[in-house]
Amino acid sequence: MKMICADVGGTAVKSALISVGRVKLPQSYKLKDFGSEPTRSAQGFDGVRESVLRAIEKMRKGSEADVVAIATAGEVGWDDGFVVKATKSLPGFSGYAFAEDMSSELDCRVVVINDACAAAVCEHYFTRNRTKSTVVLTIGTGLGGALVTDGKIDSFHVINLELGHRLYRENGYECRCGSNGCLEQYLSATAIKRDAGTNTVKEALTNTDSEKCLLAKSNFLSALNDAIYFVKKEYSPEEILVGGGLAEMKELWLKDFYDSYGHSDVRTARLGNKAGLLGAAYAALNGHFANQ
Ligand SMILES: [Zn+2]
Repeated sequence: MKMICADVGGTAVKSALISVGRVKLPQSYKLKDFGSEPTRSAQGFDGVRESVLRAIEKMRKGSEADVVAIATAGEVGWDDGFVVKATKSLPGFSGYAFAEDMSSELDCRVVVINDACAAAVCEHYFTRNRTKSTVVLTIGTGLGGALVTDGKIDSFHVINLELGHRLYRENGYECRCGSNGCLEQYLSATAIKRDAGTNTVKEALTNTDSEKCLLAKSNFLSALNDAIYFVKKEYSPEEILVGGGLAEMKELWLKDFYDSYGHSDVRTARLGNKAGLLGAAYAALNGHFANQ
């Protein structure tokens, strides 16, 4: 069967055409085509919705898909694909019946899940050495985190930990969700660039002559240590993986992190920026949803 997946983030809407063999095992998922559209947050709700549709239509190109699976930023109801809360990177998405709207627009089944949940589903299932439980921290523009425990793919076994918007610093930096002191204001590419005063994370993590850059890096490693300490204490997962843009430049910080804080059991994600797409596809076909 053919399915289309989209991964809706604050900067881009990625999309892919995936073919799935008769046996719905991870190894039968093949990415056939891949595309990307700017999210166009500045153009409000309609602009973002249009970007999502465009990214999906690019993959359809006239041929029909059986299922569309969407991973999106924001808090999403597992059973109905309803966006409970989104930040201003997806304007107007708080209270949006995402799955229902897309399903009537595209005239096929549409499943919408949170992007951190999708990445965690992917990393948990697309491996030969499956553990009992996996936590994936996705560190990019923002911060996401989800826990998958082995069993059914449902709301009891796939939990969005909402790590990005947990209170980390009383009266801290203002967050794009409207609160202050959220963890993602200290543990994200955005935080590193802000502290370093640089345009890129790479520059911030490689410039050893600048006090500000060195401080930005040590702040990042310290916040990551706190986040991992918290995850271990609260959830005791068998496996913790770091994904997102920061994982793709692990050579700039991972060794320093091990040297400073230990946590040598923490690894970077295996499937990189495809994890959201593949995880949404796998969940849509194998998951249990009451109403989508
Ligand atoms: Zn926040």
